Amino acid sequence: MSSTTNEGSNVPYIPRLVEEVADFIIEDHTKRKKKLEKIQTVISYHRVNTIDQGQIYKDKNTIKSALSYYAMMHNFQFKTDRSEPREYLVSCTDDTCSWFVRASKYRDQDLFKVRKCISNHICSVEIVMEDHRQAKNIVIGELIKNKYKSIKRNYTPNDTMNNINDDFGVTMGNTKAWRSRKKALRLVRGNPDDLYQKLQMYLHMLKQANPGTITHLLTDKEDRLKYLYIVFSNSIKGWRYLRSIIAVDGTFLKNAHGGSLFSASTLDSNNNIFVLAFGIANSENDNSWLWFFSKLRDTYGEHKGMIASNYIFFFT
Ligand SMILES: [Zn+2]
Repeated sequence: MSSTTNEGSNVPYIPRLVEEVADFIIEDHTKRKKKLEKIQTVISYHRVNTIDQGQIYKDKNTIKSALSYYAMMHNFQFKTDRSEPREYLVSCTDDTCSWFVRASKYRDQDLFKVRKCISNHICSVEIVMEDHRQAKNIVIGELIKNKYKSIKRNYTPNDTMNNINDDFGVTMGNTKAWRSRKKALRLVRGNPDDLYQKLQMYLHMLKQANPGTITHLLTDKEDRLKYLYIVFSNSIKGWRYLRSIIAVDGTFLKNAHGGSLFSASTLDSNNNIFVLAFGIANSENDNSWLWFFSKLRDTYGEHKGMIASNYIFFFT
């Protein structure tokens, strides 16, 4: 009774046509889903539990970090037998052991696929992990970077040494702990050089969010930061109600780029410090102080004053 085509005609029978379209849609959907699943299984992190044949990593650096993390987790070390843009081959440091991983570029992208891998060790992996090969600064940096996400907590190199020893049984020296901290900070906060590039944008947003805020940025001939001056609008509003005494001080900045931090403050009626202005200069000298004071005068006006050692006091 049911036929796929109308008798004597090549025109498909309507229910059959609907069925075919439905099949096509389902097939197409399955294909897309599979494609999507393939994309989703690309590993872009280093905290892996296993290294398996067929795994696809985001790029060569990711598989390198993942292997280092895996080696630290499983108390063994590996050596690099081949490291080329298209291929990466590592094996256990014990020459009698069969553990090895070979990965190479996958498709025309940066992806790296594990082509072959023997994941069992026949060596004794329970060795003392002093100066672990895979405990490189970048790997440790990756492992500890989350500790630096909060600026409130001071995670010291000593904490790094203790944590890595507790978690992986790996001991490291002070220098490595410091370098790892530097890497971790860079991973979390980005490259300090790039951040300086964003300063203009930051100052603009600061003024947008706090109308009345004053900022001045001076760069040198090579477009590097020379002086920076910031006064929040609330400081200007508050100054009207405070006693006319300004204490000024400067200190060295402890970052990689150095420089000095200047501040001008006074006391409120509860004797709490009320910040009036602060500035950054490439170095602390007469010119940088002069620039800071001229900006301070432009903001708060000029009064008769007297100068005393490190502090300058203004009286109305
Ligand atoms: Zn081994």
